[in-house]
Amino acid sequence: MQETILNLITLQDLDNKIRIWRQTAAEGPAKLEQARERLSALEAERGALIAKQAENAKARRELEAETADLTQRKATNQTRQLKARNSNEYRAVLKEAETITSTLTAKEDELLVLMDEGEKLQSLLPGLAADCASETLAFADQESTIRAIIKEGQLSEAEALDKRNALLPSIPPAILGRYNTIAGNRDGQAMAPVVQGMCRICRLSIPPQLFNELQKNDKLLACPNCARILYWMHHPAFKDFCTEPEPQAQGIPGDKAEKQPKGENGKRRRPTKGKEAPESAPAPDGEKVAQI
Ligand SMILES: [Zn+2]
Repeated sequence: MQETILNLITLQDLDNKIRIWRQTAAEGPAKLEQARERLSALEAERGALIAKQAENAKARRELEAETADLTQRKATNQTRQLKARNSNEYRAVLKEAETITSTLTAKEDELLVLMDEGEKLQSLLPGLAADCASETLAFADQESTIRAIIKEGQLSEAEALDKRNALLPSIPPAILGRYNTIAGNRDGQAMAPVVQGMCRICRLSIPPQLFNELQKNDKLLACPNCARILYWMHHPAFKDFCTEPEPQAQGIPGDKAEKQPKGENGKRRRPTKGKEAPESAPAPDGEKVAQI
C-alpha cells in the first residue's frame, strides 16, 4: 500500500504542475493583451496631444495673420482719418477705427489664450513620450518573459504527461478512480498531506486514532472533513514530496497522540466546521478511522 500511496502522491504532484503550467499558458496571452492595451492607450493619448498641438499651432497662425491684417487696416484707417474731406466722412472713418480696434483686441486676447494652451501642451509632451518609451520597453520585456514561461511550461508539461502516463498502470484502477473522483470534486487536489495531526489542505485536526492509523502507512485513509486521501508528510518514504521541515514535536512513532496541536484550553481540537475547517464535507465515520 505504501507504494500505491507514493504513486498517488507522485500523480498529484504531476497533476498540480500540469495544472499550473496550463493556467500560465492560458493566462499569459490575456496578461500580454492587457499590457498591449495599456501601451496603446498611452500612444493614443500621445497622438491626441500631438494632434491638439498641431490644431493649436494652426489656429495661432490664422489668428496671427488676422491680427497682422487688422493692424494694417488700423494704420490705413489712421491715414484716412487725416484725409477726411468732411465731418460725415471723418465720423464714418472713426466708426470703422473703433470696429477695427475692438476686433483687434478680441483677436489678440484669443491669441494669448492659444499661446498659453500651446505652452501647456508642449510641457505635457516630454512626460508622455517618456511614459510611452518606458511602457514599450516594459511590454517587450513582459512579452519575452511570458513567451519563455509558456514555452518552458509546454516542454515541462509534455514531460510530466509522459511520466503521468507511465505511472497510471501502477495504480489499481479502483484507487485511481477514487483519486479522479476526489480531484474532480476538489479543484484537482485529491491528496492531502498531514502534518502534526492536521490536514494541510482543509486545516482540520484529524482524530488521534486516525493519525495513529495514518502513520502505519498501510491503508488508504480519508480526511473526515474534506474527504481527500491522507498521507503523513513526514514519513521517510515520502521525503521527496515533503515541503516543510518536520516539526519538533512530531515524528516519533508510538507517541503520536501527544503530537497533535491543542486548543486554547489545552484540549485537543475536534473536527469542526467553520473557521478552522473551511471546507465542509460529510464526515461519514465521525471520529472513527475513515478508511477508503
Ligand atoms: Zn482535509
